[in-house]
Amino acid sequence: VHRFFLPPQSFHGDRIALPPEVARQIKSVLRLRSGERVVALDNSGDEYVVRLLSGGEGVVEERRTNRAEPATRLVLYGGTLKGSKLEMVLQKGTEIGVARFVPVITERSVAGEPGTGKQRRYEAIVREAAEQSGRGRIPDVAPAMTLREALEDAAGTMIAPWEEEGTRHLRSVSVPRGSTASVFIGPEGGFTPDEAQALQAAGAVLVTLGPRILRAETAAIAAASLVLGGAGEIG
Ligand code: SAH
Repeated sequence: VHRFFLPPQSFHGDRIALPPEVARQIKSVLRLRSGERVVALDNSGDEYVVRLLSGGEGVVEERRTNRAEPATRLVLYGGTLKGSKLEMVLQKGTEIGVARFVPVITERSVAGEPGTGKQRRYEAIVREAAEQSGRGRIPDVAPAMTLREALEDAAGTMIAPWEEEGTRHLRSVSVPRGSTASVFIGPEGGFTPDEAQALQAAGAVLVTLGPRILRAETAAIAAASLVLGGAGEIG
């Protein structure tokens, strides 16, 4: 069944008015007809089984709670990445269950602040990944922050994978299901020792992801998987 996040103005009681681009996609690309069903999402965590009518409309047959949305809130703070790598992290992280992505400008960042023109593209990527993977909410993509701002923004269990940490493993940090975790991944060049110290001073646990050095985008996906796996959300 195809799933679509729709804006609030599409919902009128049990009637749904599809935005023109969604109506077009349903009719011309997916070739669904009147009487067939889709799932509409209002980004509340609920979902609506909708029977298609003609003329870009639909009628709600059932409202139910989405069951795929993680109970654990994982915020991924990542050193800024070049476009296609950031896009991959947004897509894969959404599938895995990340709630919010925050690009972080660090001393060794090279990609710079993502242009605002890209923001809409990032939002489309997380929306499509959320639809495809069956989520009930679209993750937020925050504007880029400095590490200092990110440390003020962070909540819950703070975890910072650092390749120079020798002994403490990410899997040893407990993140209870339903709680919040903030995971900090460095840029391609890594965190500086000062930044690692700032992370620790702010309450983050420095951890190793194992003996191999992962690229930043791989580390982001591996760390998100391990934390959500430890919380019982995947795996
Ligand atoms: N430039 C560094 C590697 C940076 S990897 C070097 O060559 O030594 C980019 C980010 O991924 C790091 O800042 C860290 O957050 C994470 N990372 C990658 N591999 C890791 C590992 N084995 N343990 C902990 N963190 C790791």
